[in-house]
Amino acid sequence: MFSTLAEMSVASRLAPFGSTVFTEITALARAHGAVDLGQGYPTWEGPDFVKEAAIEAIRHASNQYPPSMGIAELREAIARRWLTDTGMSVDPDTEITVTSGCTEALAATFLGLFEPGDEVILFEPVYDAYPVGCALSGAVPRYVTLHHPGFRLRADELEAAVTSRTRAVLVNTPHNPTGRVFDRAELAAVADLCRRHDLVAITDEVYERMVYDGEHLRLATFPGMWERTLTLSSIGKSFSLTGWKTGWAIGPEHLTAAVRAAHQFLTFTTPNPMQHGAAAALAAPEDYYVELVAGYRRRRDLLTAGLAELGFEVTVPEGAYYVLADHTRFGFADDVTFVHHLIEDVGVAAIPPSAFYPVSDEGRRLVRFAFCKDEATLGEALRRMQRLRS
Ligand code: PMP
Ligand code: GLN
Repeated sequence: MFSTLAEMSVASRLAPFGSTVFTEITALARAHGAVDLGQGYPTWEGPDFVKEAAIEAIRHASNQYPPSMGIAELREAIARRWLTDTGMSVDPDTEITVTSGCTEALAATFLGLFEPGDEVILFEPVYDAYPVGCALSGAVPRYVTLHHPGFRLRADELEAAVTSRTRAVLVNTPHNPTGRVFDRAELAAVADLCRRHDLVAITDEVYERMVYDGEHLRLATFPGMWERTLTLSSIGKSFSLTGWKTGWAIGPEHLTAAVRAAHQFLTFTTPNPMQHGAAAALAAPEDYYVELVAGYRRRRDLLTAGLAELGFEVTVPEGAYYVLADHTRFGFADDVTFVHHLIEDVGVAAIPPSAFYPVSDEGRRLVRFAFCKDEATLGEALRRMQRLRS
């Protein structure tokens, strides 16, 4: 009896995932004093005007439960941003939900939308929270591989993944870990698929502001897509506040209702001070983003040029803040072996991408470096990696 219950538990369904690769690599990096280009957290702190707004809220605003859907100031700020970015009006009362990071928005979306056995199309390399969302909800992932080195989304392979059980497709753009910013043709193929097969689209746009080449396009703005799309994001990346875990879901009322059904019992709400800080963040002038992108472009160029110089084959990222590099030139059996050598003998931490490839083995030849690190840190990592040449 007990073992039957245990087999049905969420814990047993999550057991195969172990602890996250980020937790594992961060611990290993610290133990070896490695320069950490692993987990994607900036080495600097978020802007003072955002932190001050949160401090002010702790001092002077209510520290009791905010409304479950989020404080009005933040929902209105999200709606204003959406109008500026897309020209579309959204109703902050019925079409926006504040969540505890994009991670909770993802969990609430999976739990709110899917029945066990429903199929969800995911792209690999895949961000780890998506397969876990499937495991939590009982949904079944169907993977479409973005092939190295270009990582383009192929419409024929997407079409081949659809079955009579398919309910949704999840697109992350700009993409972690490839750095792809999907272009109009690629997203039009997803939109076309969704309309023809009556699918829901879930988009993870947490890197929406980190775009160096191309343009960030939102699937929700494609013809016929608003009513079937949930757009998820957060302030963690755009404001260098990954520890704040303040995000949101934007979508039509019927999809928002599903997200809220789960959200109200997952966390009920998100800490009040962070919501006030996030509202201030979203009122930032355009200059803030111009400077953010200029800094990231400099760091991207520094790291990609340095890696290429060392002998890595680099796919230059169009967005987000990661580089996937091919390490095969150095003669290691796979990504895990290479990363262990890198951390333990070279003193630089990175992520072994096979963790992002549940199906294909294309991740074994690759290594992921994060460039949300100051130039001194990137420079020191490159200096240490000179050892790879000998
Ligand atoms: N989606 C992607 C693709 C990410 O890289 C991250 C980074 N942590 C998240 C979601 C989670 O965002 P948050 O910290 O807002 O939960
Ligand atoms: N998004 C971060 C990364 O890809 C990790 C966040 C986490 O540790 N869950 O590095």
